[in-house]
Amino acid sequence: MGFLYRNTRKKDEVIPASQAILQGLGSDSGLFVPDEIPAMDVPLTELAKMDYRGLAYEVMSRMLTDFTEEELKYCINSAYDEKFDDTKIAPLVKHHGTHFLELFHGKTIAFKDMALSILPYLMTTAAKKNKMDHEIVILTATSGDTGKAALAGFADVPGTRIAVFYPKSGVSPIQEKQMVTERGKNTFVAGIHGNFDDAQTGVKKMFSDPVLREDLDRQGFRFSSANSINIGRLVPQMVYYYYAYTQLLNSGEIQAGDKINIVVPTGNFGNILAAYYASLMGLPVNRLICASNDNKVLYDFFTTGTYDRNRDFILTTSPSMDILISSNLERLIYRIAGNDAEKNAALMKELSETGKYTVTDEMKKELSRFYGNFADMDTVAATIKAVYDEDGYIIDPHTAVAAAVYDMYKKETGDETPAVIASTASPYKFTRSVMTAIDPSLQSEEDFALVDKLEQLSGVKIPQAIEDIRSAPVLHKTVCEIEEMETVVRNFLK
Ligand SMILES: *Cc1c(COP(=O)(O)O)cnc(C)c1O
Repeated sequence: MGFLYRNTRKKDEVIPASQAILQGLGSDSGLFVPDEIPAMDVPLTELAKMDYRGLAYEVMSRMLTDFTEEELKYCINSAYDEKFDDTKIAPLVKHHGTHFLELFHGKTIAFKDMALSILPYLMTTAAKKNKMDHEIVILTATSGDTGKAALAGFADVPGTRIAVFYPKSGVSPIQEKQMVTERGKNTFVAGIHGNFDDAQTGVKKMFSDPVLREDLDRQGFRFSSANSINIGRLVPQMVYYYYAYTQLLNSGEIQAGDKINIVVPTGNFGNILAAYYASLMGLPVNRLICASNDNKVLYDFFTTGTYDRNRDFILTTSPSMDILISSNLERLIYRIAGNDAEKNAALMKELSETGKYTVTDEMKKELSRFYGNFADMDTVAATIKAVYDEDGYIIDPHTAVAAAVYDMYKKETGDETPAVIASTASPYKFTRSVMTAIDPSLQSEEDFALVDKLEQLSGVKIPQAIEDIRSAPVLHKTVCEIEEMETVVRNFLK
């Protein structure tokens, strides 16, 4: 059977991987975590000979031990195919004196596709294994990119339905258009009057509402999550950090065993946590550089040891990182508390009651692998322009937050360890911010005129995801208050 996943708030709740994926969230709103990460026992030089799918099997089979080889390979091969517009799946490119790991070659052109193209397969396989006959209802809160990636992944998948909530005024025009034009018959999309944290809290509340759960159970439904609180999101994300490493190995930039730095533009702390888990599996990592935008709770946490969400929520040009409650940080807190569910639960209770908590000095010492900093919107725009001016490469605002923070890190520490920057979205998804950073006089142009300009400047073909929404009709028009989320879900399931 292999190892089990444990609830971060309830130490006796332990279940195998497939059940953790099905449930999404544990009871008492705890998250499922592995107690220990198994070591990768295949040498890096062997891993370097594998393609993305082969590598995905090696990494994921060690984390999802109750899936058979046949099941896992079926999931991997179904996910990482021609849906991606690059045969490498996650190509590593060299610019700005460092390496960008392009994670945006999937269907919805953001890194969320890396995990959400496989999650529906993992989930339906897990349902079959566990003889679950309920229909799975995916409830999702999105800061913009998860929503469309989850819709695309679950659209018309038999045995599933999906509802997505996004902050009505908190996503880019292209992000919104991508979601509200979704055609899948089992899909539902609603904007809320609130921010991402409100959407996420509302969704978590529905998960832990026993009355709602029983009502739905009677109707034949069972909730699960496509957010990075689901371990089924994090495990597939570990793969591409290994893949970045093996690409560096194959191009001769490093020798097997050399350490690398990993820079991640961070919101809900899922992507960087996956990098941390990969390092615990044995990937040679020096520092994990956590890049924040103006919503810099994580920077403050890494510098002071206090997590404090009592501050204004700032809408930035990197909306997918506009988050004040980084859910996955709980998984790190649990670990640095010595895998102590009670200690962790006490801190999370403090967070929900007072909006903040402080870790002990002993716990803070465990964070030395992480470096945090932040970039404000002007710095982000200047970085997009600077990287473009160097050699014509255009990065999106989220990736630019990471590039800017990496520049600060190098200046501050002088550390020249080879680095990989997680490039989390295609610039086409944030065309307005990107194009006006390069040329402010474009401010008054229409969105799709800017798309065409971006193609001219970058020489990168307009992705299919953008072509698809040019003339697509709006199919989802629901906008609701935060308090109405439950009613809206009940109506969708009627
Ligand atoms: C979701 C997202 C992030 C933040 O990732 P987390 O796993 O939430 O930290 C960064 N950039 C983009 C483009 C995203 O969509």
